[in-house]
Amino acid sequence: MSDQNKEIKISKVVVDRNLCIGAASCVAVAPSVFELNGENKAVMLRKDGTKNSGPVNKAELTDQQIADDMLLLAAKSCPTNAIFVYDEQGNQIYP
Ligand code: SF4
Repeated sequence: MSDQNKEIKISKVVVDRNLCIGAASCVAVAPSVFELNGENKAVMLRKDGTKNSGPVNKAELTDQQIADDMLLLAAKSCPTNAIFVYDEQGNQIYP
């Protein structure tokens, strides 16, 4: 756990279901993490087999190895900024 390069570490992700319009940009960027459910809302795939909008800890994701850059890119790709990303201290990284 070196902080010599101030890399952002993503710890938690939440999709705001009220903001999500089912644009699926997040799914296009990170299909191993995001999926649209029957209501056209983004859900995240957990390693326990469940899927929901979170909050989900990165360590609980099926693809817990996904690069933080990709998760952040997925959040940034969302046209309504419905994907909220937090670091290990609980600080909001995006949006
Ligand atoms: S990109 Fe945003 S609006 Fe589109 S499905 Fe993902 S969370 Fe929902």
